[in-house]
Amino acid sequence: MKATAAVCPAPNKIIFDEVDVREPVGSEIRVKITAVGICGTDMTAIHGGTGMFPLIAGHEGAGIVESVGPDVTRFKVGDRVGITYASCGKCKWCQMGKTSLCDTYMGNFFGPGRINYKNRPIPNWFSQNSFSNVTLTNEANATKVPDGIDPDTAGPYGCGIMTGVGSVMACNPQPGDTAIIFGLGTVGMSAMMGAKMAGCSKIIAVGGTPWKLELAKELGATHVVNRKEEEDLIAAIKAIAPEGGKVVIEATGHSNVCEEATKVLGKMGTLYFAALYHEPFPFFPDMTINGTYKHGGMGEWEAVPNIERLMKLTAEGKFPADKLITYYDFNDMDRAIDDLTHQRVIKAVLKVQD
Ligand SMILES: [Zn+2]
Ligand SMILES: [Zn+2]
Repeated sequence: MKATAAVCPAPNKIIFDEVDVREPVGSEIRVKITAVGICGTDMTAIHGGTGMFPLIAGHEGAGIVESVGPDVTRFKVGDRVGITYASCGKCKWCQMGKTSLCDTYMGNFFGPGRINYKNRPIPNWFSQNSFSNVTLTNEANATKVPDGIDPDTAGPYGCGIMTGVGSVMACNPQPGDTAIIFGLGTVGMSAMMGAKMAGCSKIIAVGGTPWKLELAKELGATHVVNRKEEEDLIAAIKAIAPEGGKVVIEATGHSNVCEEATKVLGKMGTLYFAALYHEPFPFFPDMTINGTYKHGGMGEWEAVPNIERLMKLTAEGKFPADKLITYYDFNDMDRAIDDLTHQRVIKAVLKVQD
């Protein structure tokens, strides 16, 4: 069927153009996208970081199942879904619940595409290319949206939100622990809400944007530190948490912040590098703390069951991830990207019309 997609033919250029989305086969579902989040990885690709053009980015799609392949068992036409990255379900990593380590991971992200643009297949993007008002994906990487949440918020659970909470859980937080979160974008804010759910008693949010620090307090931070107001940031954090963090999350992607994070890791603590790193990675482990350092995409979590769990917690009022979202019209993608770049919003979600 014909659809309209935000096609990126060259770096930093987006045109809304007609594409062809074929019938679903096997266990594929075709989804009418109603809303899609913009993630940092989409912006990296649009700026030219992956060298893949033409590109239809978008990997936080939410929408309505339009048609299903013959092998689909979990969904029917009309279901509201959120979409995440694909995993095979068969390899040893998937069997262990580590879907982000799936042996087919890279192929699913960047493999042969399913949408045609000007009669040529456009490359796959996270198995969803969801900057399009219709797309194809696999049922295995879709999640049914529960009652009680705005279905247009469902997309970001599939990447940024899951990554934040998952990275905290990968640090094995215990009630009473201290958590220190660097960076207050979607990943950092979600990590903070995850630390609150895990019962951490001190949750320290470190950032440089006053309105984000205020929101952090509302979402669970017990303390906030504005890096722009502190001459000695490490001393300011240590004044609140003299023993350092049992859980430390680095969610900025900047190498100088990575180094700061290593300096506030407590004894037997875990530091999770949750961002995408483009800069050289400084690593100065302090042997006396016996800490653990982790780095992984998507927070190391089994995607679909945990996304389902987080959405249900939102419906119950225990995980207010919807507070991170600002909506834009699909056609307003340039403005949304500009607002994200200038820290005016945390998670931009584009509302997509038919
Ligand atoms: Zn993402
Ligand atoms: Zn697998």
